[in-house]
Amino acid sequence: MNRDADIRKVLEAVTDPEIPVISIEELGILREIVQEENSIIIFISPTYSGCPAMDIIAFDIKKAMAEKGYQNVEVKYQLSPAWTTDDISDVGREKLKNYGIAPPEKLMPNENGLFQNEKNPSCPRCNSENTKLISLFGSTPCKSLHQCLDCQEPFDRFKCH
Ligand SMILES: [Zn+2]
Repeated sequence: MNRDADIRKVLEAVTDPEIPVISIEELGILREIVQEENSIIIFISPTYSGCPAMDIIAFDIKKAMAEKGYQNVEVKYQLSPAWTTDDISDVGREKLKNYGIAPPEKLMPNENGLFQNEKNPSCPRCNSENTKLISLFGSTPCKSLHQCLDCQEPFDRFKCH
């Protein structure tokens, strides 16, 4: 196994501190691994500016790397291109749903190249689209709180852009 693949394998175990079932790779925030002579720089992109989870993720990356013998690891933020919910992989979306969080809709541009408005998130329990927004801020600032009007299930939705 080459070093880059080995590092990726180490990073597969690093998960989002808010959603421990999804890895930073599946979340799409792992951007680039740069190996220099005496150090390794890992670029991640914040899910939204000031997200407190980013510091924890940076810490977890260094810890996971150190456990596998990688020293001198630097974590840098890559702000451009900005992370959007479109960066979440299909596997990641499935995991979010199984975890009880409505995955963000993938936005597709229409024929004019414009993005359609997001529709109501569907309930992760019964798939009903008959849901309403309860609060813009759910259990963490990254999530909004919704409720299903059919089965009454309250659920979080990942809303960071
Ligand atoms: Zn429901």
